[in-house]
Amino acid sequence: MRHSQTLIPTLKEIPADADIKSHQLLLRAGYIRQTASGVYSFLPLGNKVLQKVEAIVREEMDKAGVAEMLMPALQAAELWKKTGRWYKMGGELMRLHDRHDREFALGPTHEEVITTLIADEVKSYKRLPLSIYQIQTKFRDEQRPRFGLLRGREFIMKDGYSFHATAESLDEAYENMYQAYTKIFTRCNLNFRPVIADSGAMGGKDTHEFMALSEVGEDTIAYSDQSDFAANIEMAEVNITYPPSEEPLKELELIDTPGQKTMVEVSAFLQLPLEQGVKSLLFKVDERFVLVLARGDRDINDIKLRHALGAKEVELASVEETKELLQAEVGSIGPVNVPEGIEVVADHAIAAMRNLYCGANQTDKHYLNANADRDFHVDGYYDLCFIKEGDPSPDGKGTIQFAKGIEVGQVFKLGQFYAEKLGAQYLNEQGKQEIMTMGCYGIGISRTVAAIVEQHHDEDGIIWPMEVAPYLTHLIAVNPKKEEQSALAEQIYVELQEANISVLYDDRQERPGLKFKDSDLIGLPVRITVGKAASEGYVECKLRESGEQFDVHISELQDKLKELLS
Ligand code: ATP
Ligand code: MG
Repeated sequence: MRHSQTLIPTLKEIPADADIKSHQLLLRAGYIRQTASGVYSFLPLGNKVLQKVEAIVREEMDKAGVAEMLMPALQAAELWKKTGRWYKMGGELMRLHDRHDREFALGPTHEEVITTLIADEVKSYKRLPLSIYQIQTKFRDEQRPRFGLLRGREFIMKDGYSFHATAESLDEAYENMYQAYTKIFTRCNLNFRPVIADSGAMGGKDTHEFMALSEVGEDTIAYSDQSDFAANIEMAEVNITYPPSEEPLKELELIDTPGQKTMVEVSAFLQLPLEQGVKSLLFKVDERFVLVLARGDRDINDIKLRHALGAKEVELASVEETKELLQAEVGSIGPVNVPEGIEVVADHAIAAMRNLYCGANQTDKHYLNANADRDFHVDGYYDLCFIKEGDPSPDGKGTIQFAKGIEVGQVFKLGQFYAEKLGAQYLNEQGKQEIMTMGCYGIGISRTVAAIVEQHHDEDGIIWPMEVAPYLTHLIAVNPKKEEQSALAEQIYVELQEANISVLYDDRQERPGLKFKDSDLIGLPVRITVGKAASEGYVECKLRESGEQFDVHISELQDKLKELLS
């Protein structure tokens, strides 16, 4: 492609509203433009990269035996009402009306559509298992669209769905997809880790997120420094055995703690270690209230709480609710004298503690030397806290470290939630109706493009890995006004195209400095410069990644390129 025939509007300045590298570089190098908050156009180069990533996905899906189809983005509200997500998804679902005032949504995902379709088309165990995917534009009215392509309101996703007669069959498909995703992200040259993740409250079970490691990632990954254990911090199990304290029980004592609210304040005021204190928080768990206790130095993880109590929804009780139920300000609540009807659950660490301090359920007062069973009752002990760096790895191998990750994909055992709600049933071998079991598998295609740039750039611009580069070579004539240079560049351009080596040809009448700067910014793997040595038949090749450069005779150029690009 000739530069003069395409649209590559590079920018000199860093756009003011772009705070991360991938967003800045994709804008500056002329790959994308924003049209509304979280909504982007992919310019010719950006579109090429999307196509490259999509091609990798298509190849690997093909190999994995998953068929491609295309579903509508426009979805009738009735479908979403059947699963309840019309009400549950709130503001994130883009809703609209047609001219007859019927309600629709722009699909944020396609479980409702695909499951309804399969319910109509697949009736017998003989057609199962079945795996389908599509690559399509998705809409989510994100609360905080940001970081360019990383969190858009309109973005491109590959979403796949599998349908099964048995849980074992789903396990197989899940493993198959997990392997395919590993191949896809490896081919995209991402430094990534599959991590154990939260399945949410929709009745699903196993799920892994594929995380591209990056400082700008919004997720925290807890991983072992000595094994391949990795989990989203939301899920990482704390696997510590707390030896029971041998301390003799001391007498319970009520003391004034004026104005001391946080654990850190109370600990400093009492001059007692954080580890001896109890952090108490009141949660609303589905429709009931639960007081949750954790050791003072740990943070309560509401996702673990939801799992532990088998709940659908967990949220912190409001300041007003807490005050009304426990008769004290949030910073002074605790497990002693909890009114009837409020369940008390505690993290395992609490079971081993003695003579602990805690809020007294009287504003500005705390107890010293409170002891479980003697002074307060605990209904159940669970793993309820966030893991910390330095904790032992839950698999018993090594120590936990943290890293930040960008979720580029997710595989998910959905179970029967959607199939049940939408009537996806089949006749088994005995002729009996059964509900299908499902899996779903997503990849953020446009987010993956940004994640690749996050991991592959330097101060001059993007450094595309070979497989996803919009073009493999960037051909530049230093001074196209010189006849021998422009003639040779034209000749190389034609020959590379004939040899199927993709080439972007900067045929602009611009200063060489500007062309080289743009070339670094755009980031194609090999630059071919036609300059002074053109008269002797030599050009210069420069590799974007290593910076290595060397002269090549035009007679050897194709072989050299094939070697470099293989
Ligand atoms: P997140 O937690 O980042 O909001 P999600 O878990 O809600 O994402 P999924 O429903 O799992 O997203 O969607 C599948 C994939 O689509 C994600 O793994 C991610 O790569 C991509 N994705 C999700 N939301 C966005 C978005 N707003 N912009 C770009 N890509 C997205
Ligand atoms: Mg996800």
